[in-house]
Amino acid sequence: MDSQLEETIVAISTPIGKSGIGVIRLSGRTSRDLVGRVFRSGGEALRDRSPLVGKIYDPKTDQVLDQVVATYFQSPRSYTREDVIEISCHGSPVLLKAILGLFLELGARLARPGEFTLRAFLNGAMDLTQAEAVHDLIEAQTLFQARVAQQQAMGALSRRLKPVKDQLVRLISILEAGIDFADDDVSVLSWQETDENLTKLREDLEQLHRSFGFGKIIESGLSIAIIGRPNVGKSSIFNALLDEDRAIVTEIPGTTRDLISETTQILGIPVRFLDTAGIREVEDSIEQIGINKSWQAAGDADRVLLVVDGSQPLGDQDINLMAELQGNSFFLVINKVDLPQKLNCDSIPHQLREVSRVSAKTQEGIQALREALFLDFTGDHGSFETEQGIITNIRQERLVAEALEALARSVSSAGNELPHEILLLDLYAALRALNALTGETTVEDILDNIFSRFCIGK
Ligand code: GDP
Repeated sequence: MDSQLEETIVAISTPIGKSGIGVIRLSGRTSRDLVGRVFRSGGEALRDRSPLVGKIYDPKTDQVLDQVVATYFQSPRSYTREDVIEISCHGSPVLLKAILGLFLELGARLARPGEFTLRAFLNGAMDLTQAEAVHDLIEAQTLFQARVAQQQAMGALSRRLKPVKDQLVRLISILEAGIDFADDDVSVLSWQETDENLTKLREDLEQLHRSFGFGKIIESGLSIAIIGRPNVGKSSIFNALLDEDRAIVTEIPGTTRDLISETTQILGIPVRFLDTAGIREVEDSIEQIGINKSWQAAGDADRVLLVVDGSQPLGDQDINLMAELQGNSFFLVINKVDLPQKLNCDSIPHQLREVSRVSAKTQEGIQALREALFLDFTGDHGSFETEQGIITNIRQERLVAEALEALARSVSSAGNELPHEILLLDLYAALRALNALTGETTVEDILDNIFSRFCIGK
């Protein structure tokens, strides 16, 4: 790894294709020297953080390739903490390739995906959770996702972890001291105090672990299955929530034979709606396949919307569906409120998550349904204005879970008043997991795994 850091890397940082401006980025010890050999600006030298207008020459022919703006970021005040130069050229793919080629000929190496950010991490400009957030920021599909990623990239998760780690290290030091002084009969911490410390640590980590529920939703969005007996208006609600005609709406019961899925966003959270076949007893085997899929979708979905028709009394089929769904949390959506209402709400079970009254036809209540869904997903995090760090991917989740398991073991050791050495073993295991989270101890293949998902030039 270290010998690789010696090399100067170069890449086209803007997407391939014609554009107004294209950016070539270099990072490494020789960046300035390499640029100096092909860039001229009437004798002016590159100065830290000052854009300089000049021309790029092909050193072999001395012909001008392009007029550009070069910006020098002197080490260590740069993205990678190395000498970085960004050259803004005209966004012509052939030109960009030609200029990139010049630097490669002069000895720079083509950067691998994510290598600029990898260097930033290796040189201590950011920790691993921040580097991951840079990736999430680039990949964000909604502004809300981008905002959360931005907070994480600024170190929100690391800031949240810091006091937990400090507390853990303190506890380890006290227990270690107890062992060192064991001969002198120094009892540094009572079992009760140890237990209190461990409990506090666990609570903090458990809270952080729970944030994954929210983090996962922001990262990968949600799936919502819409189910109900035929003709209650599932497809119409699906369309209303999506705001475009995607599903087929017909008056013949049982036409939505397959699953239709569409991704939209509810107030910035990507949501995949699954419109399912009407669930009822059928003879038709094709329709039966669709219905089986409906149950599958309901089982896999993060949320289920059960739709009933408000203009009709609750039928056996509706009641059976509710019974089937018991145990799964679901939203009850009473549709067709624009028609005279015949639904008797008394027969609806009380343990529902939420009841919404809507009309897919007039759009009444649809926005309120969207908002109710959003609030349900985001819970306490609804107004995500706080600078709270959260866990956003499986890697992070696994490590926090690992730390929690180790802490649970140490709690049980403390409960049994086992020797401190045993306790320490698990406390160190918890600390190792938290250190791996921020990348203080991370093996190389994990780094490869993380950074190879980036685009080239970042
Ligand atoms: P699905 O079988 O549950 O998917 O139901 P559809 O969405 O195909 O709708 C069945 C019928 O009910 C269609 O004729 C729709 O136009 C009608 N419909 C759906 N929603 C409403 C509504 O809110 N009000 C009224 N009046 N009719 C609706």
